[in-house]
Amino acid sequence: MADVAASAGTATTPLVGVFDLDGTLLDTDRALADAFVALGIRRQDVTWGHVLAEECARLSISVEDYLDAYDLELSLPYPGVEDLLGRLDRWAVCSNKHPRLGHAELARLGWEPEVALFADAFDGPKALGPVLDVLGLTSADVLFVGDTHHDRRCATDVGCAFALAGWNPRAATLEDPAAVATPAELLPRLR
Ligand SMILES: [Mg+2]
Repeated sequence: MADVAASAGTATTPLVGVFDLDGTLLDTDRALADAFVALGIRRQDVTWGHVLAEECARLSISVEDYLDAYDLELSLPYPGVEDLLGRLDRWAVCSNKHPRLGHAELARLGWEPEVALFADAFDGPKALGPVLDVLGLTSADVLFVGDTHHDRRCATDVGCAFALAGWNPRAATLEDPAAVATPAELLPRLR
C-alpha cells in the first residue's frame, strides 16, 4: 500500500505534502543573507539550512538584531508554488525558521497550511515526528519536500517519502535522485 509506494518514491496513493519553507516554497536567500549583511557579516560567510539561533551564534550576532533586520518583502514564492498549494486538499509546513518570521511570512502570503511548525516546536533542528503527530498521520501518508541534505535526513528518520526542490538552483546542485524540476511535477503524488 502507501508505505511500499512511498519507499519507492513513486506513490500511487496520493500523499499529504509537508513542505520546508525557506529554499523550498520561498526563495528567501536574499532576505536571509541581507539581514546578516546589514549586521556586518560578509555575504560569503553566511551558510544555509541551519536553525537561526545556531547561525547567529556562529556569526556572533544576536537573534533579536537579526529578526529586526530581516525584510519579509524580499522573499518570493518560487514559480509554480502558489499554483501547487492552491490545488492541495491538505498541506503542512515543517521549518527551522524562527516562528516570528515564519508566521509573518505565511500571513503576508495568505497561506494557510493545516499545520505549520517552526523552530520553537522542535527540540533541536526540525523533525517530522511532531508534524505527523499534529496532522494525525503516519509516515506512510506524507511526502516531505525540502531543499537540503538535512531535509532528506528528516524524511529518512521517520521513513516517509521525500522530494527535493530541484527548482531551487542551489538544491539542484545536490544531484539528489529525488529532485523534481518544478512544483507542478509533485501534483500527481499529492492529495
Ligand atoms: Mg530549506
